[in-house]
Amino acid sequence: MSHPHPELSAPPELAEGALRVIPLGGLGEVGRNMTVFEYSGRLLVVDCGVLFPEDHHPGVDLILPDFEPIRDRLGDIEALVLTHGHEDHIGATPYLLRERPDIPLVGSELTLALLDGKLREHRLKETVHHRVREGDRLVLGPFELEFVAVNHSIPDALAVAIRTGAGLVLHTGDFKMDQLPLDGRITDLRAFARLGEEGVDLFLTDSTNAETPGFTPAEKSITPVIDQVFRESAKRIVVACFASHVHRVQQVLDAAVAHDRKVAYVGRSMVRNMAIAKELGYLTVPAGVLVDAKELAPLPPERVVLISTGSQGEPMSALSRIAQRTHSFVHIEEGDTVLLASSLIPGNENAVYRVINGLARLGARVIHKGNALVHVSGHASAGELLYCYNIVRPRNVLPVHGEIRHMLANADLARLTGVPNVVVAEDGVVVDLVDGVASIAGKVACGYVFVDGSSVGDITESDLKDRRILGEEGFISVIVVVDSVSGKVSGGPEIHARGNALEGSSFDEIRQPIIDALHRSISEGTTDAYQLQQTVRRVVGRWVSSTHRRRPMIIPVVIEA
Ligand SMILES: [Zn+2]
Ligand SMILES: [Zn+2]
Repeated sequence: MSHPHPELSAPPELAEGALRVIPLGGLGEVGRNMTVFEYSGRLLVVDCGVLFPEDHHPGVDLILPDFEPIRDRLGDIEALVLTHGHEDHIGATPYLLRERPDIPLVGSELTLALLDGKLREHRLKETVHHRVREGDRLVLGPFELEFVAVNHSIPDALAVAIRTGAGLVLHTGDFKMDQLPLDGRITDLRAFARLGEEGVDLFLTDSTNAETPGFTPAEKSITPVIDQVFRESAKRIVVACFASHVHRVQQVLDAAVAHDRKVAYVGRSMVRNMAIAKELGYLTVPAGVLVDAKELAPLPPERVVLISTGSQGEPMSALSRIAQRTHSFVHIEEGDTVLLASSLIPGNENAVYRVINGLARLGARVIHKGNALVHVSGHASAGELLYCYNIVRPRNVLPVHGEIRHMLANADLARLTGVPNVVVAEDGVVVDLVDGVASIAGKVACGYVFVDGSSVGDITESDLKDRRILGEEGFISVIVVVDSVSGKVSGGPEIHARGNALEGSSFDEIRQPIIDALHRSISEGTTDAYQLQQTVRRVVGRWVSSTHRRRPMIIPVVIEA
């Protein structure tokens, strides 16, 4: 990870009466959000999310925030506050609870309900829950919390105000300012203004869309587009969107009713989340519209809508399987319509276009962000951020939630409105609020933690480098037996290759050079098997690079017999 502060060392002990902010994820990437606040020896954690791996993380399932900087202080955590139910904010919670299962959790009704299913999957017991809603206040140790409604692409999102002896902090969580949201629950700017009047000492704001000028369009603006898609579709409609986007699903349900179609959910997380959202009253399902996916078969295609997961091209998702014709019961036919009603998260482009191409090849009409207004962002654009700065008038701003370019753009917006002090920090850079002024105090080591199957944190960057080499270049294995008495090669070299065009080629020309190099090393006094293996690696590496222009992984095995 690049770093604007390479010179920083570990922060000094926190000054009496000061507040420390330790970002462990989400500052420098869109994902794995986690921020630790420290005051008077106690810690408050806001969010604990995951980051989804990209093509250069082969085999990785998830990327977690790095808990290492607080690992020996888990007992000091007063609570984990979850601002909303998106994976990039709650997804790593089970992994934190594995390390200390009794951390109290704080969140809104829907957030905690979505988290609950996740905890059950991980076989974690119920912990202490503080279910809060906008306007609520909660005192946890030295932290006095107040929750503020914010509007986002999932219902029931909250901003959190944190009062300590060091001042008032306002963390927006993820938010936008849709003035006419489907559920009528707008970002509470009156509360923002009230807190601003009280004096916000440190304002942490969502940077995701800071580079986008103007205002994020209203969620309702895509209703006519969805309606038009329904009108123009003569056969089946498949809508893919995030499994947590309750309002998008609501729009599709309403369109289905208007156009006399039945709806089924496809994909485990879609089925589970929408059941929760309905049960808690965040989703209104008109009577008779919803059917089980397996009951759709007798219906004519023009009466059917499927709402599916997989809008990001995730290879195991329902939509990917449909595109590859490996889904067990959904098969695309000529004339079907597929609507990808979602954003395109950076890094997922190739996977998404692979899915779109697969669907198009099967004869589907594919409507997506690139050819129609079928998605609006869940995050505030530059115009909305400017409003917030002018309303809150904070003394210090720390941009959060974004890549460095987003955070720098957000910092510029804050400065334009006259915020006196703006601090840009990436993951691991510690910011202290002392006497009302925020500044960088140091840096803690903070890397990526990879989840691969059941292993957490065992896979390292160097393992991933190996996987990339294996994936791109394959490998050559060389087995040699050396007689430990005579010091001569007594067997091999036996050479095999996989995953490259070298498999069929003759390795004859390199056998003798390997033997010669080994004899030379041994005569110079090298007897250690590891060092002899390095000799083999060098000879083979040089040969394969100069004669074949390849750099496969070379696996030398020297056996002393
Ligand atoms: Zn979010
Ligand atoms: Zn987020």
